[in-house]
Amino acid sequence: MSEKKQSFFDPVALEAFRKEHKIEPYRIKQITDAIFKQSIIDFQEITTISKELRDLFDAHFEIISLTEIKRVEDDETSKFLFETHDGEVVESVLMYHFHQKREDMTFNNAFQVEDANDEGQELNRMTLCISSQVGCAVGCIFCVTGKMGLKKNLHWTEILGQVLYINNFIKTKLGKKEDGTLHKVRNIVFMGMGEPLMNYPNVKETVGYLTDTKFLGLSRKRVTISTSGLLKPLRQFIDDNLPVAFAFSLHAPNQPLREQLIPVMAHVNPLDKLMALLDEYTDKTGNKIFFEYVMIKDKNDGKEVAHELGKLLQHRNAHLNMIPYNQNPAIDLEESTPERIKKFRDIVESYKVKVTVRENRGRKAKSACGQLGWEKVTENLKDNNVKKPIKKPL
Ligand code: SF4
Repeated sequence: MSEKKQSFFDPVALEAFRKEHKIEPYRIKQITDAIFKQSIIDFQEITTISKELRDLFDAHFEIISLTEIKRVEDDETSKFLFETHDGEVVESVLMYHFHQKREDMTFNNAFQVEDANDEGQELNRMTLCISSQVGCAVGCIFCVTGKMGLKKNLHWTEILGQVLYINNFIKTKLGKKEDGTLHKVRNIVFMGMGEPLMNYPNVKETVGYLTDTKFLGLSRKRVTISTSGLLKPLRQFIDDNLPVAFAFSLHAPNQPLREQLIPVMAHVNPLDKLMALLDEYTDKTGNKIFFEYVMIKDKNDGKEVAHELGKLLQHRNAHLNMIPYNQNPAIDLEESTPERIKKFRDIVESYKVKVTVRENRGRKAKSACGQLGWEKVTENLKDNNVKKPIKKPL
C-alpha cells in the first residue's frame, strides 16, 4: 500500500525533506512559482525541474488535498463539490462576469446587477466563492449549510486547495488571455460553507498565500472575508489587520430580528457590541465594510425595517449589498418581490447609504449557499454512510 502523501504546503515536512534529499532552496521556489504563477497542480507538469525531482516530489507530496467529486455548470457559474481525505464534502462556486462597466473594480461591483452575462460578451473576470468549514454552526434559518450543523474546520491546505484546483481548471478551460497571461480567479470571497471567523487560524494562514506576492499576490480589495458576527474572533481579526476586504452579514437592523434569522449566534453576539467593533475597524483601517443583507419576503423586507437600516448605516463607512434570497425546497422561505426590493433600496438610499442590489447568480448551478454539499450529505445519510453532524454550540 502506498504511503500517505504530505502536503507540499507543510513547511516543516517540506524543509526536512529538502535537507534530507539535499535539494537546493531555489528548486522549492521553482515549484512554488509553477503552482502559483502557472496554475500547475501536478508535479509531472513542472518543466523547470528535472524528471528525477518531479518523480521524487510526486512520490512524497501532494499539491491539492481534495478530490473533485461533482461539478454543476451553467453559463454563469461552475460549482465544484470536493471530498476531503477524511470523506467530508465541501463546495466552491466560480462565477463568470462578462461585462465591464467601470475600470475601478472592487468586491462590491464584482456582483453588480449590470454585470450580467449578456450573450456574446467577452469574459471579463471571475470571482471564486470558497468554503472554510464543512457545514456551519451558525444556523442561519435561510441557509442549507446551516442545517448540516458543523462537521469540521477545513485545514488551510484544504481551503487553499480549492483556489489552486480551480485556477488549474480555468487554465484548462480558458488558457491564456490576449496579452499572453493566464486567465485566473480575480476575486476570492470567503462566502461558501462555514463561518470563516470560527476557523480563523486556518483562514488567516490561507489569506497569507492568497495575498503574498511570493504566492498568488492578490490585493486587499480582491480577497473578502465575510462573517455573521462573532465578537471574540472579530476582535482578533481587527487586531491582525489582515490585508483583505471585509463583509458583515447583517440581515437585520435590530437585535430581535437578527435573533429570528440567526437564532443561536445573534443571541450571544449582540448587535450593539458588534457595531461598536465594526466602527473600531473602519476607524483603524479606513476601509469600508460591505454589509450583506439577504432579502426574505415578509421577514426583513418591510418599509419600517428599511428606515431602521438606513438610520443604522448612515454616517458609517458602509456599503449595503442587498441579496435577493435564493429559494431552496429544503427551507420554507421566499425571496422578496422585485417591487419590495426596489422600494427597500430607495428608502435605505434616502439616508445617503450606498446600496447595490446584488445579482443572485447560479440558480441553475444550484449555487445557493451550501446546496450542493447539502444534497450530497442527504444522499449519504440515506445510505447511512456519513458521520452525524456535530451539535451546534450554545
Ligand atoms: S449563511 Fe453562512 S454563516 Fe449562516 S449558516 Fe450559512 S454558511 Fe453559516
